Amino acid sequence: MSKPYPFAHKARKRFGQNFLTDQNIINRIVTSINAKPSDRLVEIGPGQGAITQQLIQACPQLQVIELDRDLIPILLAQFAKYPEFAIHQQDALRFDFATLMVEKQPLRIVGNLPYNISTPLIFHLLSYQDRIQDMHFMLQKEVVNRLVATAGEKNYGRLSIMVQYYCETEHLFAVPPECFDPQPKVDSAIVRLQPHKKLPYVANNVAHLSHLVNLAFQQRRKTLRNTLKQLADGDALQIAAEKLDLNLSLRPENLSTEDYVNLSNTLDGLSNHE
Ligand code: SAM
Repeated sequence: MSKPYPFAHKARKRFGQNFLTDQNIINRIVTSINAKPSDRLVEIGPGQGAITQQLIQACPQLQVIELDRDLIPILLAQFAKYPEFAIHQQDALRFDFATLMVEKQPLRIVGNLPYNISTPLIFHLLSYQDRIQDMHFMLQKEVVNRLVATAGEKNYGRLSIMVQYYCETEHLFAVPPECFDPQPKVDSAIVRLQPHKKLPYVANNVAHLSHLVNLAFQQRRKTLRNTLKQLADGDALQIAAEKLDLNLSLRPENLSTEDYVNLSNTLDGLSNHE
């Protein structure tokens, strides 16, 4: 397939560059996003503009964040006719997304993300969750499976719980390696993350919740009674379990996000009253 610009760019592995070339997939992604001209739309890692070129037609004030400085002249030339288009040549992991907000309008975030930064980037973005309308990402298939898994499922774990605490998650569709150049060694999928307008369950101490979930899933095969010994003594655990009517012989994958939030609030409350 011919490239829509006159420059030659060699894909760089260290930047996770697998460029989308399948026009049907690009169309499906853009249709799923359904951008409007008034949206505060942000694309992370535009690369050579495969998705950008369609997004910008729907939303000319598109902002993009690209780390590879060699791609900047390519993007500038390609989108020169859009005066509101802006490129931020920065690392998205360190980027202050609040600077892109205009009059408190929530951001819409899009990206075919480099797989090595996808989880830390999602956690970075979750710190802005009350200022984000939605996020559409292309990720490694396994990561999407973890993001959407619910209690009892094989892929359910820390990522599912901590992301679903903040967002509704939805698997949209699969994308095979043949849709990219160069082809990645893994399958990909598109996921939609939509921050809850109001958190369904509120943790009194999110750091405690995160620590609890982390500990619980360090040894998936063990019971909660065994794994949580490190977090609270046996008495506190027993008191919390009775209060919540929770069976400590369950394994970590049996508890829902709501269960973890309740357990965290109860254990954290007990330790604060010691
Ligand atoms: N969107 C393009 C596409 O679909 O063809 C490129 C996707 S490619 C998988 C990932 C892009 O993210 C590359 O352009 C890469 O240079 C950029 N990138 C890598 N690390 C980044 C970071 N930390 N911050 C911003 N962009 C980054």
